[in-house]
Amino acid sequence: MSNDRDIKCCVCHQPLSAPYKTLGGRAYCDRHYAMVNKPHTGFWRATVIQIIGMAALSALVAFLADTVLGPLTGTGLLVAGVLLALIPSALWLSFFYQQDRLEPEPKHQIAAVFILAALLADVFLRRITSEWFRVSEWASADTLTSLLASILIIAATSQLIIYLAVRLIVYDTDEFDERMDGIIYGTVAGLGVATVSNLYFVLANDGVALGPGVVQTVTTALAEASFGGLLGWFMAEAKFEHKPAWWVPAGFGLATLANGLFSWLIGEVGAAGLRVDPWRSLALGIAVALGAFLLLALLMRRTTEVTLRRFP
Ligand SMILES: [Zn+2]
Repeated sequence: MSNDRDIKCCVCHQPLSAPYKTLGGRAYCDRHYAMVNKPHTGFWRATVIQIIGMAALSALVAFLADTVLGPLTGTGLLVAGVLLALIPSALWLSFFYQQDRLEPEPKHQIAAVFILAALLADVFLRRITSEWFRVSEWASADTLTSLLASILIIAATSQLIIYLAVRLIVYDTDEFDERMDGIIYGTVAGLGVATVSNLYFVLANDGVALGPGVVQTVTTALAEASFGGLLGWFMAEAKFEHKPAWWVPAGFGLATLANGLFSWLIGEVGAAGLRVDPWRSLALGIAVALGAFLLLALLMRRTTEVTLRRFP
């Protein structure tokens, strides 16, 4: 910022001349200043409905599986399992597509972030956890070991994938021009990771019983989406305001810690001798997702209010 001729909008890189708006040490053209701080009251209400709706749907499927449908076997079981792995992410993505603010062009970015996260999860998450570290062979040894494996290997890899998908596809583009974008793209990347985890979960078990299966896949999707959204918020804040060098690593560490603790609690690792109650997992998943998005809504409101106080 030493030379006035070098000042550019931090979103579109269009050269600016004084007077221009700034936010936390970053310069903005008028259009992008307005975009960054756009409030999204409807988005949060819709997100809460989406989370509760997914939970209600999975509870209904689990209930029907126990009472009406009876046990599936063979191909039917596998098909049902694959559908279960895909449905939570499909619902959430269609919800983002319906948000009117996303039309018309950024939709392909949503798809690209989702696909890259899924590909990275397919190549790395599985390879790192099952082939390099062989987590399932030793992590259930004792409580501390399984907790550390869950945080330092599985959760850290998942969050790194989310970070890379957002960073490589959309972070530096014009499409990433609102504070809200970090949360949306982080959530989408989390869903990409969740979808692949769920597919492998289903395939490893030759399909899954419908009841516990739907609870497991929905819980995983809710959790990965929340922790992805959390990391995405830290990334967005670092783009739109000048933040210290530790800011994004701190966000990464926080999201990894929360992700690892959660996965460990619902018994993804080291559940060998432990009976996992699917309903407890689902309740925990809903609580974590609602808690995370509520926290994000409050953080967003606070930053917007601070901004409006500075430039009424
Ligand atoms: Zn601009």
